[in-house]
Amino acid sequence: MRDWFRRFMQGRYGVDHFSHFLVILAFLLMFIQLFIHHDVLRLIISVLVMIILIFSYYRTFSRNHYQRYRENEWYLKCHNSVKYFFSRERNNMQQRKTYKIFRCPNCGQSIRVPKGKGKIAITCPMCKTEFIKKS
Ligand SMILES: [Zn+2]
Repeated sequence: MRDWFRRFMQGRYGVDHFSHFLVILAFLLMFIQLFIHHDVLRLIISVLVMIILIFSYYRTFSRNHYQRYRENEWYLKCHNSVKYFFSRERNNMQQRKTYKIFRCPNCGQSIRVPKGKGKIAITCPMCKTEFIKKS
């Protein structure tokens, strides 16, 4: 039985980060579905879950390594930019306690100034425009 499986998997792509994500996504959708009482919406989610799982299996058993590898690369790129976005947001939130962030009216550059200094003149480091703001 194990031998049969090994022979079956020979030359096939197998599991990667993207297929892990697809399985988690499918389970998440199934979980969300438990709280939905709208019939059509439930049906749409069921179909979606089925497509996601079939696609995930298809990738695992695929022999086109190059294409699967590219899909995984694409997924990792998205994953990293989402992660980056949230870590930047969290960083901004923490800084908001001690700093105030202004946007330069001329070039749009964000400028961080310490909070609670009253009215101050801010000089943009990018374009040297000066503007007055309350910190
Ligand atoms: Zn500027």
